[in-house]
Amino acid sequence: MSTLFTKIINRDIPADIVYEDAHVVAFKDIEPQAPVHILIVPREETEGLASLPDEGDHTYILNAAKKIAFEFGLDKSGYRLVFNQGEHGQQTVPHLHAHLLGGRQMSWPPG
Ligand code: AMP
Repeated sequence: MSTLFTKIINRDIPADIVYEDAHVVAFKDIEPQAPVHILIVPREETEGLASLPDEGDHTYILNAAKKIAFEFGLDKSGYRLVFNQGEHGQQTVPHLHAHLLGGRQMSWPPG
């Protein structure tokens, strides 16, 4: 069974895709929490950060985030990269993804 995000990756349901490479597809969040809010999603289905294999190089997610932030002109002003994991993390889609948020001043601590 494929996740919502796999359906987006496969173009079965529409999304505003802004970046893709061999490992990830990135698209605009449907409910943006900042002027720039992009989801970076590995093509391979993994439920979340907790189930990412110990072995292997996962820096492709960070590399994509860095490139997309640059493309959206956030590299100087700054941005936030968030992984929500499980119940306390308020993860709602069980397919690993990073939220890239920028274009406004963030606050801390997060809600
Ligand atoms: P999370 O709560 O960390 O699992 O993040 C899931 C994110 O997916 C939320 O920010 C949602 O707004 C976003 N989302 C849900 N459905 C879609 C969709 N069809 N297209 C784009 N973003 C979506």
